[in-house]
Amino acid sequence: MRAIDRAAGTVTVAAGTTLRQLNRTLSAHGLSLTNMGDIMEQTVSGAVATGTHGTGRDSGAIAAQIVGLELVTADGTVLTCSAKENAEVFTAARVGLGALGVVTAITFAVEPEFLLTAREEPMSFGAVTASFDRLVEENEHFEFYWFPHTDSCTTKRNNRSAGPPAPLGRAGAWVQDELLSNGAFGAACALGRAVPATVPGIARLSARALSARTYTDVPYKVFTSPRRVRFLEMEYALPREAATAALRELRSMIERRRLRVSFPVEVRTAPADDIPLSTASGRDTAYIAVHMYKGTPHRAYFTATEQIMTAHGGRPHWGKLHSRDAAYLAGAYPRFAEFTAVRDRLDPHRVFGNDYLRRVLGE
Ligand SMILES: Cc1cc2nc3c(=O)[nH]c(=O)nc-3n(C[C@H](O)[C@H](O)[C@H](O)COP(=O)(O)OP(=O)(O)OC[C@H]3O[C@@H](n4cnc5c(N)ncnc54)[C@H](O)[C@@H]3O)c2cc1C
Repeated sequence: MRAIDRAAGTVTVAAGTTLRQLNRTLSAHGLSLTNMGDIMEQTVSGAVATGTHGTGRDSGAIAAQIVGLELVTADGTVLTCSAKENAEVFTAARVGLGALGVVTAITFAVEPEFLLTAREEPMSFGAVTASFDRLVEENEHFEFYWFPHTDSCTTKRNNRSAGPPAPLGRAGAWVQDELLSNGAFGAACALGRAVPATVPGIARLSARALSARTYTDVPYKVFTSPRRVRFLEMEYALPREAATAALRELRSMIERRRLRVSFPVEVRTAPADDIPLSTASGRDTAYIAVHMYKGTPHRAYFTATEQIMTAHGGRPHWGKLHSRDAAYLAGAYPRFAEFTAVRDRLDPHRVFGNDYLRRVLGE
């Protein structure tokens, strides 16, 4: 950690700090981020630059929780950026895709550590999709997973709690998080890869294996969990109101094309933010993420998913698989030109150019 300012509620860390290190250090100081994604293996710079997010009614992506950053630009200048200093660069560089320079430090807005109560419970696809808006409104952090080939979803509601802490017992956590969500799930995916016809049956078993549970703990232990089963992923950010229609179309598509999908589809939300290339830029957002077990053909599934998502004006996660280019993205992001103008100014010779950036931002 580089600096901690309790009065301002900010903490500055080196860009290569992992979210795990950040969370543990914050917790040791009685502090916490407001919201985060599913894992904490990423560096803070990688998570911020690609718009990494969790789920939230009022709180957005990790990039929406930063109040300052230090950037080394193409000509070697070190820029200190915040809403007050180099504000235009700060606005763009919060989700910067590595295109504007090398981020060397990030300042987060943090808050006194709090407790979250997680309630995980199965619900049917019909019940979740019918009450999605209400579930999002009633909970600070609502998300769900739908198991393809079944009518089953697992829902997770995280809300602040006055305590007392009631962490998962070691045995319970091990059975659900390690054995069912990783060990047995990995074995089931491997079987599904070898014998695709077994996938629907396995999906029904997986959906049934995860039971209801409630626990209360510090935020990072509730938001994140171990993810040891390897997968490929595509995630699209949609206008919130399009989420359930898109999910129903996804379900029909999987059935119509007789795809075999062993991984659940994850649905999360974020409030609109003011970052030009944030996937939630300017609109309340729902995220739909599809996954395929590593080594399983994924193109048919991902291509058909992408057709559905783009028809709803979807924006792909910058750090996951997608096939969009600058022409599409310029239409999907109203402030796209604002970002590319900052890029042209800071890196006119494309010192930070690469194939991906040429595709998504243009030459
Ligand atoms: C198992 C798993 C779970 C995940 N869960 C989530 C989730 O819940 N929510 C979500 O939104 N995403 C999730 N992701 C995606 C993940 O958060 C992003 O891919 C993230 O960018 C990875 O961070 P990293 O440190 O490995 O990044 P890297 O691969 O090191 O960097 C990613 C990009 O960030 C930029 N970058 C990195 N460091 C700098 C720097 N110092 N200066 C300038 N630019 C920089 C570069 O453009 C780089 O290509 C998940 C990924 C995995 C593998």
